[in-house]
Amino acid sequence: MNLDELREAVVACNGKPFQAKQLAQWLYGKRELEFDRMTNLSKELRNNLQQRYRLLTSTVVAREESGEGTTKLGIRLHDGMIIEAVLMRETRADGAERVTTCISTQAGCAMGCRFCASGQLGLKRHLSAGEILEQLLHLSVLMREQAQAVDWLTNVVVMGMGEPLHNFDNLLKALTILNAEWGFHFGARRVTVSTVGLPDRIRQLAEQGYQFNLAISLHGVDDASRTALIPTNAGLAKILDAAKYYFEQTRREVTFEYTLVGGKNDDLDTAQRLVELVKDFPRANVNLIPMNPVENSGLETPTTEAVNVFTEELRLAGVNVHVRRRRGRRVQAACGQLRLKLEEASSG
Ligand code: SF4
Repeated sequence: MNLDELREAVVACNGKPFQAKQLAQWLYGKRELEFDRMTNLSKELRNNLQQRYRLLTSTVVAREESGEGTTKLGIRLHDGMIIEAVLMRETRADGAERVTTCISTQAGCAMGCRFCASGQLGLKRHLSAGEILEQLLHLSVLMREQAQAVDWLTNVVVMGMGEPLHNFDNLLKALTILNAEWGFHFGARRVTVSTVGLPDRIRQLAEQGYQFNLAISLHGVDDASRTALIPTNAGLAKILDAAKYYFEQTRREVTFEYTLVGGKNDDLDTAQRLVELVKDFPRANVNLIPMNPVENSGLETPTTEAVNVFTEELRLAGVNVHVRRRRGRRVQAACGQLRLKLEEASSG
């Protein structure tokens, strides 16, 4: 619920309109999951809220730890659909601890990317704004249990199951609550929206007045090779135009994600063509992601040597390039894999 909706809810429960902000402070600021502990609300209001509303509609049904700072939650929605949220802890070179989550926006995904477990089953449904944000509440519980010095997220990446911009209205509502001072008060610059590249939606997001980071999955250097991996490819030229527009409107750097698939798009010639695509782009960043193994995809992980050669080629050409470490390989780390396993288990 946004603040207007909370106000309506509070008034319907015999509360005063100003108490909506107090309720928002408990829900989003303190991430309190029991009405009864919201002590500056009257007992009557707490009881009425308790009778009419649920604070969570989903439950955590699986938890996998990688032992290298990554925890993946399998979350069952009210209708039995399963989504995933991942928590990653890492200590950066400067000693600062970074705690990033990767959250889902859809059950399944309509984009059909061949290297992705979520894409194999198609779209089941969009998540509501509440279901998107509930993942953060489940992670908050997890982080309290972990009882580490950094007990709340430093970064949110919307890159889990689903194509966020395909569920635009619910995504925007969730991000608005995430960012709002009365909401989670989480800085837009610490939030990254990762998309397969829906040009019209990228433009629409650019016009909302927020400074969210944008990451675009390229994965190919021409439309033929890209379409082979992303069947719903909207066309590289249109996507890159929309990305430039995003930068012009928001002044936020755009990151290009590039999944390296062994023997498909990890050769030197492809690296040079990737340089050509991004080199004129204002402040281009490229994240290289060596593909995680996905059963039945027919695609291979790249060799370490291929990853190194590819990276060096970009670096020498002056591209700001990072290789994403393969985190959590032991926790079914490619998006959708945990869900596939859970669904197989419950149907078997
Ligand atoms: S990689 Fe992302 S956009 Fe592609 S199918 Fe998987 S979840 Fe969807």
